[in-house]
Amino acid sequence: MPEPVIEPVIELAAVSRRFRADPPVRALDEVSLRVARGDYVAVAGPSGSGKSTLLNVLGLLDRPTSGSYRLDGTETTALRDGARTRLRGERIGFVFQSFHLLAHRSVVENVMLAEVYGAHPRKGRRERALEALDRVGLSHRTGFPPGRLSGGERQRAAIARALMGGPSLLLCDEPTGNLDSRNTGSVLALFDELRAQGLTIVVITHEDEVSRRAGRRVRITDGVLSEDA
Ligand code: ADP
Ligand code: MG
Repeated sequence: MPEPVIEPVIELAAVSRRFRADPPVRALDEVSLRVARGDYVAVAGPSGSGKSTLLNVLGLLDRPTSGSYRLDGTETTALRDGARTRLRGERIGFVFQSFHLLAHRSVVENVMLAEVYGAHPRKGRRERALEALDRVGLSHRTGFPPGRLSGGERQRAAIARALMGGPSLLLCDEPTGNLDSRNTGSVLALFDELRAQGLTIVVITHEDEVSRRAGRRVRITDGVLSEDA
């Protein structure tokens, strides 16, 4: 029997993203990157080096100017907007530095809002949100308003929202940037658990504590990506 071919979750080949400006900006310069299922990659680099641009491309929020991006084996650069949006909704969860939780909704309602866009059946929405909250260890906080949660709990609620729909890839932009070290610890422990469950995680961070926990570290400098030790 031949070995089954296991597609990487992410396969970037010579991806460039140029912005029209005077002079033009090469935010990503021929970036190639393979990330396997269950990998946990930290991305570092100075301000303005292209980290958010990379995350936007990986998250199908932006298109490369040139190069190829295969997500779970699908070449994404040729897809129409509708197909890209669908693929994003099915495969990708986003986590940002600011949690983007609505203050006047409970935790479980905030998580349920992940399903407002796209073709999700209304039936079972609350149950799916409660399951996601269980995954992040917030079953005892589902009725709280976000304002009564600690920073770490708020970020875990935002991660629960990102987990709705069962993504294969979690993309995080400075997820612990607003957290003290104790709350950072609780978010990092959650990332370890999610990764053990097979989720693939890409984290932009400038914090050593965060990048040390990743299985692999890459760096972007002036749009050029390199592997770290
Ligand atoms: P980082 O997240 O590492 O701070 P970014 O990816 O946000 O960096 O930006 C990389 C470079 O691309 C910067 O020089 C930035 O000014 C430029 N850039 C980002 N977005 C745009 C845009 N929409 N138009 C023009 N230049 C942009
Ligand atoms: Mg940025």
